[in-house]
Amino acid sequence: MKLAELGEFGFIDRIRGRVRDGTDVVLGIGDDCAALRLPAGELLLTSTDLLIEEIHFRRAWTSLFDLGAKSAAVNLSDIAAMGGTPRFLYLGLGIPADLPLAELEALVDGFTQEAEDAGATLAGGDTCRSPGPLLIAVTVEGSVPPGELLRRGGARPGDGIYLSGTLGDSALALRQLQQGLPPEPFLLQRHRRPTARIGLGRALAAAGLATAMIDLSDGLLADLGHLLTASGVGAEISAATLPLSAPFRAAFAAAPELLELALAGGEDYELLFTVPPSREGELQTGTWPATVTRIGSVTPPECGLTVKGPDGAVLPMAHRGFNHFAPTGPAGPVAG
Ligand code: ADP
Ligand code: MG
Repeated sequence: MKLAELGEFGFIDRIRGRVRDGTDVVLGIGDDCAALRLPAGELLLTSTDLLIEEIHFRRAWTSLFDLGAKSAAVNLSDIAAMGGTPRFLYLGLGIPADLPLAELEALVDGFTQEAEDAGATLAGGDTCRSPGPLLIAVTVEGSVPPGELLRRGGARPGDGIYLSGTLGDSALALRQLQQGLPPEPFLLQRHRRPTARIGLGRALAAAGLATAMIDLSDGLLADLGHLLTASGVGAEISAATLPLSAPFRAAFAAAPELLELALAGGEDYELLFTVPPSREGELQTGTWPATVTRIGSVTPPECGLTVKGPDGAVLPMAHRGFNHFAPTGPAGPVAG
């Protein structure tokens, strides 16, 4: 069946049927607005991301279930990066006429499952036909106690720089897909189903350990650059300390140029954060919902960003994260 046969409102009814009511939802899907409760005194966090077919994803390279889940996860990651708790999600869809309804429902299923796993509820959206690519516009809302809000600004010289998880897995899988190679299963899973580090972001915020935080969507160097600019500081990081997965390491051992994917690849959705020296012991001995690795330290602003290569020599700064507007930008899926 096609969406045209079911109709927009029939489709919305089916979405509504898939959503479990949250206790903080007074009105969810079905009225002109959602009416929602937030914990008293907490700040509302909101963020939006747009995913466009052939720019952010290719239908041939993912199931629609995974795509739905990833669309939710990349938004949840922004709430994690503020130290917040995700609460509500909104799903805007521009749907090509040829997309089978079963595929569309798989997308919604992936989305709602990822939302539920994060304790968040799909509270609304919009549905429209697209004359071209599949469009997925997601908004997320979360909340955080005012005193626990973690921004990009706030890092100070001397702070340690830490990263959750591992780097470059998603970018390496994407490269394998673009080159027509069979992607390594772990890397492919990291590309298709990124994990929003919600538990870690919340734990760091609640413990008051981080001075600044950002999630990695555009690549370590680009996103570290945003954090440094917002904080008005420099940094020195060491490639030898970058956390890499076993499959990434295996590929890297045979092709040292893959370092660029770890530094600038994008779509890691890990948390990058800074910790004052007086609290680093607590961070390093603590138990966290994800691994955390020290990759360098914050320096005074005049030092800029220094990256030491695996041999300890300073790397030239030719690498940058994925820039959508760069005339010859590297590697969105379209570049394949
Ligand atoms: P309006 O015309 O007032 O914008 P709509 O007919 O677009 O209302 O939407 C009706 C209800 O269905 C609203 O609650 C809206 O949030 C919800 N909705 C529409 N599309 C989606 C979607 N793709 N996912 C979740 N909820 C949706
Ligand atoms: Mg509408």
